[in-house]
Amino acid sequence: MLDLPGAASLIDFVFTIDYEIFGNGTGALGELVYEPAKRLKDLFQKHKAKFVVFVEVAEFEKIEAYGTDSAIDSVKKQIREFYIDDFEIALHLHPQWVNARYERGQWQLDLNEYNLCVLPKARISQIVDASLSYLRGVVGQPAFTPLSFRAGNWLFQPTKTAASVLAEKGIKIDSSVFKGGLQRKNNLDYRRSLKNGYYWRFSDDVNEPDENGPWLEVPIHSEMVAPWRMATSKRMAYNNQYGATSQSTSDRLIRGLDFLRLRYPLKLDFCRMTLHEMISMMDKIIQEERKDPKVYRPIISIGHTKDLADFETVDSFLSFLKANRIEAVTFNNAFPKLLAQVAN
Ligand SMILES: [Zn+2]
Repeated sequence: MLDLPGAASLIDFVFTIDYEIFGNGTGALGELVYEPAKRLKDLFQKHKAKFVVFVEVAEFEKIEAYGTDSAIDSVKKQIREFYIDDFEIALHLHPQWVNARYERGQWQLDLNEYNLCVLPKARISQIVDASLSYLRGVVGQPAFTPLSFRAGNWLFQPTKTAASVLAEKGIKIDSSVFKGGLQRKNNLDYRRSLKNGYYWRFSDDVNEPDENGPWLEVPIHSEMVAPWRMATSKRMAYNNQYGATSQSTSDRLIRGLDFLRLRYPLKLDFCRMTLHEMISMMDKIIQEERKDPKVYRPIISIGHTKDLADFETVDSFLSFLKANRIEAVTFNNAFPKLLAQVAN
């Protein structure tokens, strides 16, 4: 068991943000990435807190190569400044961008490469190498290797090959899993991880703890809730804005099956949840800690720059964390504690 003298709380909170435009290639960098990230950084600096920036590298490389958005230079500068100011730069990959072409004013993404994990090992390696080398150029550090990874659309299955490639490159933490997750269309099934703890070592299957595995999974926090809980007015606004309008009928039917469940995983999403929802999720964890105070509890939340609109909620939530002596840290900060406890 971990015993940290003087530690205020054994709950740490990790804000992670997916730093990207829309998954179909639409949207402007200034509005969907640069501006919201700038406001979020200002807010966190006011609170002396940090977050993890999951930079979707493949799209920036293409946008720069094709010169489709003049804000790319500001975005690259912003990533470098995040790095200098000790916000964590992490790797996020939507591989459908790697072969993308810009034609007649639109991005044509390669959906055959939607899931990194089903590609041949040599191709995975090529994609990861290219992404890391671009990211190193952006942060201006040839030796930089991100500590953490998040797969596009949370797809880190089948895990074995992609995980072995990423581990060889030096990445140590994955945060793609949300417990209870199910997307039949993409063969994503994280239901088996519901029995796992707050984090675990793994090797061949991200769902299965393996104490000798080279990787740590630190999942996005989620709670299994009744379906009606998913439909707050705040989340419905996002679904209507960016929703399923472009999906085929069969895709909608398959996705409909995913929703025909008695319980559904509600991710701790600091852009889409109300303040009340986030506080009540945290209150449960604080209650658990009172019963069993020796367990280290890293709580991972997710947000997207393209969803960031309600800064007031994030501001109030940061104050709530402070009042409860819970620090907002990065994976880098949490890493020694994670290693200390899984070693026991
Ligand atoms: Zn993404």
